[in-house]
Amino acid sequence: MYEGAVQELIDELGRLPGVGPKSAQRLAFYILEGDSEDIKRLVTAIVTVKERVKFCTVCGNVAEQDTCGICRDPRRDPTAICVVEESKDVIAVERTRSFRGRYHVLGGAINPIAGIGPDQLRIRELLSRLSDDKIEEIIIATDPNLEGEATATYLARMLKTIGIKVTRLASGLPVGGDLEYADEVTLGRAFEGRRTVS
Ligand SMILES: [Zn+2]
Repeated sequence: MYEGAVQELIDELGRLPGVGPKSAQRLAFYILEGDSEDIKRLVTAIVTVKERVKFCTVCGNVAEQDTCGICRDPRRDPTAICVVEESKDVIAVERTRSFRGRYHVLGGAINPIAGIGPDQLRIRELLSRLSDDKIEEIIIATDPNLEGEATATYLARMLKTIGIKVTRLASGLPVGGDLEYADEVTLGRAFEGRRTVS
């Protein structure tokens, strides 16, 4: 244990995802020994992102206005919605250039152990979009792991009753993985080979 402020910083950094105790300590000392101006820029960036960035009221993607750039873009196909878990997955799908529709960000996946059920996700918002818009196809692009599969199955079952075409990304994505880590070619192919959920 370090004294006071140093330990406090290590503890805070250690709460970040993917940062273990050793990394937290390394980061804390980087900050401690780092150039003051560099550290000020880092702090400003953190404060600014919390102040300025919001979530799109339509799709849940990160946005600097009420709606995100994709929802505001008139060139995007209004008939297709790609459902993803997180904003980072929007970036992953955008990189493939295989999709010209719009998105819906759920804010996670169904995970009973972590206490995340359908009510904790932005599923109600998705349903209300379906009643407003001229949606013809919902593409489910949740992660190819247990939670992602459970979420996809839940959505497919629910959407089937509404009578909208529901597709799921083709296999070929690494099982147990995270959408954001799939390379562009694999993810692009999975997109083009998407199949209707029966
Ligand atoms: Zn949006």
